[in-house]
Amino acid sequence: MQKTIYLDYAATTPLREEVKDHMVDLLNGPFGNPSSTHQFGRKSRIIIEECRKFIASSFHCSSSEIVFTSGGTEADNAALLLSVRDLGVERIVLSKIEHHAILHAAEAIQKNYGIELDYVNLHPNGDPNLEHLEELLAKPKKTLVSLMHANNEIGNIIDLQKVSEICRRNNAYFHSDTVQSVGQIPIDLSELDIDFLSVSAHKFYGPKGVGFMYVKNSVKTGALINGGAQERNLRGGTENILGIGGMHKALQLKLENLENENQHLRTLKSYMIEKLNENFGDKVFFNGASGDLDHSLNKILSLSFPTLKNDMLLFTLDLKGIAASGGSACSSGSLQGSHVISALYPDATWPVLRFSFGKDSNLAEIDKVIEVLRDQLG
Ligand code: PLP
Repeated sequence: MQKTIYLDYAATTPLREEVKDHMVDLLNGPFGNPSSTHQFGRKSRIIIEECRKFIASSFHCSSSEIVFTSGGTEADNAALLLSVRDLGVERIVLSKIEHHAILHAAEAIQKNYGIELDYVNLHPNGDPNLEHLEELLAKPKKTLVSLMHANNEIGNIIDLQKVSEICRRNNAYFHSDTVQSVGQIPIDLSELDIDFLSVSAHKFYGPKGVGFMYVKNSVKTGALINGGAQERNLRGGTENILGIGGMHKALQLKLENLENENQHLRTLKSYMIEKLNENFGDKVFFNGASGDLDHSLNKILSLSFPTLKNDMLLFTLDLKGIAASGGSACSSGSLQGSHVISALYPDATWPVLRFSFGKDSNLAEIDKVIEVLRDQLG
């Protein structure tokens, strides 16, 4: 039987074994409604509040600033919508390479609330041009800036400190989508002036359909989901105890292993870059800052072969048992093109391959990818 190779960890990660075991224990554990005041409810409540406390201590913020959500998409939508609906934001400044959870939410909010959208210029490597950001913010309009910490397609990392300082200086709110960076880059909120963050558990070996947002205590908004008083009145509904408990374990293990896993990912990425250069020379092109080890996530390598017109590479890899991506998960398996690559290289007609590594990836898997690419590209 053909061996399968999974190199799409930026799309999602499998549950870590210990997380799975913990979730099975939880399934056999407390079932009470966390809002019930009796002992059954209290036992469930503990699972939720222990997770909240752990997140707060890891990110150096207050427990009351953590709101559980159904994942990154909800947190992204909530940050944008609540800012416009409840904080008087009349304009969102974002970039063309944000995740669709931001881009499409911003467009929908623009349509429904008549706000302005401004896109910050990008440097050729995909980094936002911070001088242009300053220029945009000089316009006196209540603004939310939403710029992702690490890009899910090309891995570019922004300087959260610098962007947050620019936002503060210009009285703008700041949201960052940290879905790809949490568990890869430590985030210390006691040193950063940020209003909202979005996080998703399935990117760090936790369950799908659960995540959280950080909402700074001084930011006061109405409810995202009306109902009970759960989540500081922000998000009504009985909590996802199983997901939250699983996320707690997953985050704990990810943060404990952050350094050694990062080292492992870096070794894999630099090996793959070296092998690609060795085998394909100047035929291979690394998208954005993806080929720059000090400037992008260790887990993401996005590349193209601009002069070669073979647009079947992703399918061929799949046929050979290798799972990679053509961009974000939404375009996995299709060659419709990536909005990130189109924004960076408007004239590009070449397909994109995104390989993303995880804790169980190894050098032999990369050798196999190189072998398949060599067969295809000659
Ligand atoms: N933001 C980024 C940068 C992502 O990579 C993803 C997932 O692909 C999301 C948001 C959406 O997160 P979720 O799948 O938890 O809704």
